[in-house]
Amino acid sequence: VSKHFSIPSPRALRPTERKVLRAVDGVSLSIAPGETFALVGESGSGKSTLGRIAVRLSEPTSGTVTFSGQDVTHYSGRQLRRLRPRMQVIFQDPLGALNPRMTAGKIVAEPLQAIGGLRGSALDDRVDELFRAVGLDPAQRLARPRTLSGGQRQRVGIARAIALNPDLILADEAVSALDVSVQAQIANLLDELRENLGIGYLFIAHGLPIVRQLAQRIGVMYLGRLVECGPADEVLRNPRHPYTRALIGASPVARRRARRERVVLAGDPPNPLSPPSGCRFRTRCPQAMDLCASQPPPTVEITPGYTAECHLLQ
Ligand code: SF4
Ligand code: MG
Repeated sequence: VSKHFSIPSPRALRPTERKVLRAVDGVSLSIAPGETFALVGESGSGKSTLGRIAVRLSEPTSGTVTFSGQDVTHYSGRQLRRLRPRMQVIFQDPLGALNPRMTAGKIVAEPLQAIGGLRGSALDDRVDELFRAVGLDPAQRLARPRTLSGGQRQRVGIARAIALNPDLILADEAVSALDVSVQAQIANLLDELRENLGIGYLFIAHGLPIVRQLAQRIGVMYLGRLVECGPADEVLRNPRHPYTRALIGASPVARRRARRERVVLAGDPPNPLSPPSGCRFRTRCPQAMDLCASQPPPTVEITPGYTAECHLLQ
């Protein structure tokens, strides 16, 4: 898929002048049922835009979104509402995402009533069951979001997201705002739900340790392109793209492990409004060649289901 935004040029000479921001450009990926697909990359690489397209919170400018064999690219509001229980979202800031005036119990009960049609003791039992499933005491049903800890709030958000048995959950930086120890607990919970309920995740993160813990597959984004995409253990053990190597080299674990071989990622990513010609990573790539400025790199298949975009791999 691709997603372009038309935005006013920052240094527009005429007020009508607009530039096209290609937030996501020609990206293709698939998530298997019950799989955690992690999307990593610096901020502004297009991860969130791609995530929103994948669960149809946003419509792509071009390309196709397929869910369970159905083309949902241009689903209308009514069709999307019917699809929504199967595609849920967990947000980064549960305090902003949860209604502060509702109790935790009401927050979880709401989709069960409104869409699931549950009432009375069946509703009560299901809310209790969901609280237990996410490691909350059902006695906390009466608590309001503000009185809960960050981890507990995220558990409430997860209970609500899984209430209607979704197939896919978009978790966009869902643990990034939490303390590291709580991050690991929430990651464990998500993984347990994946195993027990067969939920698939599109897990957007910038921290590699958490990705290492959770993901079966990894996609690495740079300036709107998916530059490397493959099995998590392979990508982490033997990254093929210079950008992935730099990202992994920048993580604390790798820094200890391979101080000498690490690639230093200098500077900020270029302005996405005018990305470099040829390979978009060339202005920061330690291995850039003349060819990289004139030709966009091809997508090279390393093994079936494992691709990377770099001239060096040809
Ligand atoms: Fe570096 Fe060239 Fe490969 Fe781009 S195509 S990552 S600039 S070597
Ligand atoms: Mg983001």
